[in-house]
Amino acid sequence: MSKEEKSQGKKLKDILMSRKKHALYKMTDEEVKKCDEFCEGYKSFLNSVKTEREAVEFTVKLLEENGYKPYEPGMGLKAGDKVYVNNRGKAVMMAVIGTDDIKNGVDICAAHIDSPRIDLKQCPVYEDNEIAYFKTHYYGGIKKYQWTVIPLALHGVIIKADGTKISVKIGEDEGDPVFCINDLLPHLAAEQMKRPLAQGIKGEELNIVIGSRPFREDDLSEAVKLNILKLLNEKYDITEDDFLSAELEAVPAFKAQDVGFDRSLVGSYGHDDRVCAYTALMAAVECKTPRRTAVTVLTDKEETGSDGNTGLQSAYLKYFIADLAEEFGTNGRRVLSASECMSADVNSAFDPTFPDVLEKRNCAYINYGVCVTKFTGARGKSGTSDASAEFVGKVRSLLDKNNVIWQTGELGKVDVGGGGTVAAYIANLNVDTIDVGVPVLSMHAPFETVSKLDVYMTYKAFEAFLNQ
Ligand code: MN
Ligand code: MN
Repeated sequence: MSKEEKSQGKKLKDILMSRKKHALYKMTDEEVKKCDEFCEGYKSFLNSVKTEREAVEFTVKLLEENGYKPYEPGMGLKAGDKVYVNNRGKAVMMAVIGTDDIKNGVDICAAHIDSPRIDLKQCPVYEDNEIAYFKTHYYGGIKKYQWTVIPLALHGVIIKADGTKISVKIGEDEGDPVFCINDLLPHLAAEQMKRPLAQGIKGEELNIVIGSRPFREDDLSEAVKLNILKLLNEKYDITEDDFLSAELEAVPAFKAQDVGFDRSLVGSYGHDDRVCAYTALMAAVECKTPRRTAVTVLTDKEETGSDGNTGLQSAYLKYFIADLAEEFGTNGRRVLSASECMSADVNSAFDPTFPDVLEKRNCAYINYGVCVTKFTGARGKSGTSDASAEFVGKVRSLLDKNNVIWQTGELGKVDVGGGGTVAAYIANLNVDTIDVGVPVLSMHAPFETVSKLDVYMTYKAFEAFLNQ
């Protein structure tokens, strides 16, 4: 039926009622191709970057290749200059100086580069019944049972007593060994299976197998542990005490892969929140000379509450903005008060297998575009930064104007659960802040799933925001 033939009611419906649609129906084949290509770059990022430290290394290298210089307070800045600050190798901020007076504010994109994982304890190595293990302490909110019986790689650093830093990355290359956490066979798990799911595997049961052959000498106690320490000493020149000053993280050893016959999805470890970090970084790298100064921050420690000097509850972003302000003879508080922020983090996507936890009219769906979330929080919006209607209106019109396909979303039904992101900490600096990001399935699992169309639309949203 052509448009002229539509009934009065249908015409009215078109005008008055909002309709949600799969992004594919709103995109040309050309655009879909672009988005698939963009996600090839994203997948290789996921495969080479699995920790916040590796994300910072990747970022700094890319920034240097694209004309960014390390920022030194008082260095003198002008429109078009590109600078960055590496915060302890775990967080990074970058800015492209705009043509507008900085006292009118900056545009900030923020995402986090830490992901849930299994950290080693400070005294991790032990032997039990001639099997050597690492003791661990999980990082971030995980369903512990999901982290057993999968291949794990070990990433991180060891700082020796003389200050030497040793980088560790094992389990990623073809031919590398991997590690794993064992689980009980079903035949003997009758008692374990009666535990509530949250306790199916307990924190102190997340022990990582690291070896099983002893050092060959009769009547030697802890000979398997000794043999492992000998191997580590040969490879890294370390002793057991060097674990005291190490940050070693066990992460899934598998690679990012297309999911589905139609390759519409990407399955990977660490989409939360490297999917927003990568898209924001790409937008920052491609940002030429914006009107307003474009600031992008890739932060650490979101998964543990943003505390600490590399998390966004610390003052490091505030100090950076203050330094930029001083370059132009104004102060940080004035700049921040006029600034705006897209706080980018993943959101929960509707999963038809578990429909009860989300409210269908207000949750996000995969393939419906970048998700814009006015407020997060738990119960009565506890812990949220509730973006003002005025700011939501502004973002809405910006996205529409730039043909960004977007949707709204919320993190679960009222009273079912909830959560927050770094939005609140940036908003607390008196910055207009809104949550945006990619809807994800199986969030915080070792293998999370996102839609390629949504990833690309998130990149387009940042691009629009930084180039207003
Ligand atoms: Mn996140
Ligand atoms: Mn998370």
